[in-house]
Amino acid sequence: MYYGGQWRDAQGARTFQVFDPATELPLASVADATPADARAALNSAVVAQRHWARTAPRTRSEILRRAFEAVTARAEEFASLITLEMGKPLAEARAEVTYSAEFLRWFAEEAVRANGRFGTAPDGKTRLLVNKHPVGPTLLITPWNFPLAMATRKIAPAVAAGCTMVLKPAALTPLTSLLLTRVLAEAGLPPGVLNVIPTSSAAEAVSAIITDPRLRKLSFTGSTQVGRRLLAESSTQVLRTSMELGGNAPFLVFDDADIDAAVEGAIVAKLRNMGQACTAANRFLVHESVAAEFTDKLTERVAAFVVGPGSDPTTQIGPLIDEASRRKVHDLVLDAVERGAVVRVGGAPLPGPGHFYPPTVLTDVDPGSRLLREEIFGPVAPIIRFGTEDEAIAAANSTEYGLAAYAYTRDTARGLRLMEELETGMLGLNVGVVSNPAAPFGGVKQSGLGREGGFEGIEEYLEIRYTAVSDPYA
Ligand code: NAP
Repeated sequence: MYYGGQWRDAQGARTFQVFDPATELPLASVADATPADARAALNSAVVAQRHWARTAPRTRSEILRRAFEAVTARAEEFASLITLEMGKPLAEARAEVTYSAEFLRWFAEEAVRANGRFGTAPDGKTRLLVNKHPVGPTLLITPWNFPLAMATRKIAPAVAAGCTMVLKPAALTPLTSLLLTRVLAEAGLPPGVLNVIPTSSAAEAVSAIITDPRLRKLSFTGSTQVGRRLLAESSTQVLRTSMELGGNAPFLVFDDADIDAAVEGAIVAKLRNMGQACTAANRFLVHESVAAEFTDKLTERVAAFVVGPGSDPTTQIGPLIDEASRRKVHDLVLDAVERGAVVRVGGAPLPGPGHFYPPTVLTDVDPGSRLLREEIFGPVAPIIRFGTEDEAIAAANSTEYGLAAYAYTRDTARGLRLMEELETGMLGLNVGVVSNPAAPFGGVKQSGLGREGGFEGIEEYLEIRYTAVSDPYA
């Protein structure tokens, strides 16, 4: 682990192992932070905070810019490490590196633009001075599915804003964060600004610091279930929180859509990261007049996908992250099949080693099926038919989630209606990917609070302070 600018062992030299999901073989042992280690890491962040908040925005910006260049220069090293510990195909890992590095560049640019405002009160009696101040020491908790992107999407705006941090990476994929930490230190990030605590006991390590009054913010990406628990813990000291939680994205195909484009979009929205993305299309709602054509074309494309280890350049679908995830995906498929769903392709786990599951297309899915309500987090596409636009919107919105949605239509007015009617933080209109470092990423309803990326991303790490100044003419 890393805190106070030094690499350290855990208390009692505790370690845990990281595995390759394609081979199930161990890759490395890392320090296993205890609650005492977590408190020591927070101490380092607290000690560094005052000086860091006063560091010139240009200095913070240039550290991020150097880190952007270093991550880009070491893209292959990062990509192989992501593939090794997380399993995604190398081409997707390279795309993740580019996406992740862009957060460093974007927030290098935003660091010098976080200004407040100055005005006159309506009665003319005072001047209003509004400034933005770093929130303070922040706890960042990241998931395993995008080990580099989820880290830079939080670290870059926190650095830009002048916050110090404790990062707790996912236990399944801590290695990428540790390499990023090295790169940021080499780029000139001062000791104590970023502290990293891998741990196999997340609940204990996080509980040890989340109620500490010196911690000022929590930024969490992960499941809604864990998010709810952390929100409850954060309420003890009314901690400022940003929550990027789960999704259940609808993918709508209307009768006027370009079906070939919709199939291409569906493949990216469903199969990127083997379906293990919070923005992954979870339900395909297709107009009854084009459902047969869409299903046939999607099935044909998906059946040709090559499943294998991510390190093999011919692989298009890597393994799922672990056995529990694969079992959950298969249970959801079995539940749908028991309720009458027809398997068009895929539908059963592949032999190991490795947690492989083939791309799967299901039709005739009963509305009561669990996979329409729960996040599948695997390469399974359930297709259901609709008749009218209103029916499609009602079905799309019938979930407690509201992270991403996709719609294919050639009708611009319909596109604008969907923008207004769909309860979603992000809409892909005739595109299968919504993520962009320059755009505000985040959800409505139980998909979360706050936004990452865009102009909005840095605001999560800034608080507003206002000073009333007496009338200079009085
Ligand atoms: P998860 O189980 O909620 O874990 C996320 C992080 O929280 C991990 O670092 C985990 O540590 C930690 N954690 C788990 N239990 C905890 C507890 N009781 N106290 C404190 N920390 C705890 O989610 P995941 O399986 O890693 O990731 C998949 C989920 O993330 C999906 O629901 C997906 O939709 C969501 N996600 C959302 C976004 C978004 O931007 N909205 C992006 C990516 C993923 P361990 O690794 O040790 O369990």
